[in-house]
Amino acid sequence: MKAAVVRAFGEPLAIEDRPDPEPGPGQVRIRVEASGLCHTDIHAAHGDWPVKPNPPFVPGHEGVGLVERLGDGVTHLTVGQRVAVPWLGKACGRCEHCLSGWETLCERQINTGYACDGGYAEKMLAWADFAQPVPQGISAVEAAPLTCAGVTTYKALKVAGVRPAQLVAVSGVGGLGHLAVQYAKIAGARVAAIDVTDEKLELAAELGADIVIDARKHDVGETLKRYGGAHAALALAVDEQAFAAVNAGLRRGGKLVMVALPAHGTIEVPIFDTVLNGTSVIGSIVGTRQDLAEVFQLHVAGRTRVVYETRPLDSVNESIDAVLRGQVKARIVFDLGAGQ
Ligand code: NAD
Ligand code: ZN
Ligand code: ZN
Repeated sequence: MKAAVVRAFGEPLAIEDRPDPEPGPGQVRIRVEASGLCHTDIHAAHGDWPVKPNPPFVPGHEGVGLVERLGDGVTHLTVGQRVAVPWLGKACGRCEHCLSGWETLCERQINTGYACDGGYAEKMLAWADFAQPVPQGISAVEAAPLTCAGVTTYKALKVAGVRPAQLVAVSGVGGLGHLAVQYAKIAGARVAAIDVTDEKLELAAELGADIVIDARKHDVGETLKRYGGAHAALALAVDEQAFAAVNAGLRRGGKLVMVALPAHGTIEVPIFDTVLNGTSVIGSIVGTRQDLAEVFQLHVAGRTRVVYETRPLDSVNESIDAVLRGQVKARIVFDLGAGQ
């Protein structure tokens, strides 16, 4: 089977032919149909973060495909069933976090395409309990971006406790942001979308953003304040300054939700303003299996639109460059062709 492999940080990925992986107990093998390119995969391939993966590895945590082989003990999935394999490849199921609905914080979790091989391949393994069934009515190429970009932004809005009539700022209208705009609208909020490319700002308006702010031309904090300030700001742009800019646009009691993970990222949080204005800074990491099930339900109900362009897996290196240049239509999805 073909796979795109990170052999060394910062090097182009290598397209390799590998033996089909064999599912162990509790695992399944999946014939991958589609695999989204999340910006996290680029951070993984570059070794951007303090906790690093170990090359060689296959990135990808938006892999969607058909179950092909069941490992021992797997009884709830069937061969031929479509599943999605998210970042949360496995959690322990026994710790405080797992037992309290916060499996995304499990300290013993295994992350797909980071600590084990992911979806940039024709075949992949998944732990059956964490392979999310994809309901009828969602194609593999649409399910892929929902599997990380969708669940992550849906969860970030939950974490912010967004309510109708609030103002939500979405900073960065890429893979994550284009879905964030839609979930914020579903929650009943007014949405201010911020980006630095014309195409992304147009897309945001098309997807329902009430206010669009071009961060190249306008002071984001001041502009948001003119609208009363954001109740919640989702920081999705891979740029430290963008975090500080939306933080400055919070209203009193507002919440900055940190989601993007720029390399070595830090921001200065002014103590005086934070205390006097009663603002909070919250980190939010992906979402649970239940969150992903809800994301899929919303899509089946026709309430979200996934914006993507498909490319062959062989184009992985050019595709990464295109994301870094901001020249993609929200999300690139590798079409592995297995569904044909
Ligand atoms: P992306 O590249 O598709 O989107 C980033 C967007 O930010 C682009 O539209 C870009 O034009 C825009 N942007 C760049 N500079 C900006 C600025 N100064 N102001 C406003 N917008 C700006 O990336 P993505 O796949 O959406 O991922 C975004 C980040 O989120 C990455 O760092 C990724 O690792 C992270 N991520 C985090 C989680 C989590 O659970 N916390 C999950 C998935 C991805
Ligand atoms: Zn992701
Ligand atoms: Zn756990």
